[in-house]
Amino acid sequence: MSAFISEKYRSFSPYVPGEQPQDKKYIKLNTNESPFPPPPGVKAAVAKAADRLYLYPDPEHKVLTQKTAELCGVSFENVLMTNGSDETLDFAFTAFCDTNTPALFADITYGFYKVFAESKRISYEEIPLRIDLSLCVDDYTGKKGTVFIANPNAPTGLLLPVAEIERLLNSDPSRLVVVDEAYIDFGGESAIPLCKDHDNLLVVQTFSKSRSMAGARLGFAVGNASLIRDLKTIKYSSNPFNVNALTAAAGIASLEDDAYTRSNCRAICENREYTVNKLREYGFYVTDSMTNFVFARHPRISGKFIYQTLKDNGILIRRFDTPRIEDFVRITIGDRRQMDILLDAVRKITEVKNA
Ligand code: PMP
Repeated sequence: MSAFISEKYRSFSPYVPGEQPQDKKYIKLNTNESPFPPPPGVKAAVAKAADRLYLYPDPEHKVLTQKTAELCGVSFENVLMTNGSDETLDFAFTAFCDTNTPALFADITYGFYKVFAESKRISYEEIPLRIDLSLCVDDYTGKKGTVFIANPNAPTGLLLPVAEIERLLNSDPSRLVVVDEAYIDFGGESAIPLCKDHDNLLVVQTFSKSRSMAGARLGFAVGNASLIRDLKTIKYSSNPFNVNALTAAAGIASLEDDAYTRSNCRAICENREYTVNKLREYGFYVTDSMTNFVFARHPRISGKFIYQTLKDNGILIRRFDTPRIEDFVRITIGDRRQMDILLDAVRKITEVKNA
């Protein structure tokens, strides 16, 4: 740390992303990326856009925004494109929280929520999930602030039905609810249709998971036009050209081949069911994940041991040093070959420990 860093960041713990090792080739099942490349049209679209890199991109990204709006069944003014969905969340914490409007989120959820709140000096309350790690919307009753819910939740993988989101929205129409749907394309039902009748709902989605574009950094917000205008106030006060021209071109090409994305999502859901069944056969407790990862705990083998043994065998997964879930491991669903290698290694770990 230099002598020049702002007081605010002197004792601050930033978000720690999953490992992106460059040294050795791992079977990489640690950061919920897709095992599939982006749709074939993306490469050509990016190459074509590269010819115009001497120009700034359209700050409104009209074509991409319109196509995203069509995909979501909403209008142009209901959508804002961002540099990954992390940026949408960043804008939302800035726009909709402060010391008088705390952020409310689960005790076990996407770790960045806490970092956003702390870095922006926003007060926050972590609301415990139930013992089975599910979220009870009644626990938010009577609490003032802006609610952030990852749905499905990460790292638990558990999905809250849309009817529960609607109940939460109706319980206090003066309170904003931000629903982070990073993993919604793997079997969940989106809350986007509720935006029409609920001014207090903002939905956040990403191209990083189901659309195989984590490296391009593209996300978006959907909500009523005034919420989107609020987010634009933040965007135009921090980074007007937040989405670069190559990423925008990739995003448009991806939306033009939605069938490809749907087919990949089906393959991932099939591999997920296959993986869950095998892990349960090997004695694991596995949550009913509706995402592109599974969350599992073995009754006798620590999460730390499983993580380290797999890493030593060239397989990267993720675990968290967070109370209540220290012994869980989070495993991204890859292709069938990757899952077979992982499952074989996990089976060997359980056999040695049983011997
Ligand atoms: N929300 C959740 C729940 C996530 O797990 C992630 C991925 N780390 C994000 C948002 C951010 O994803 P991205 O910025 O790649 O869109």
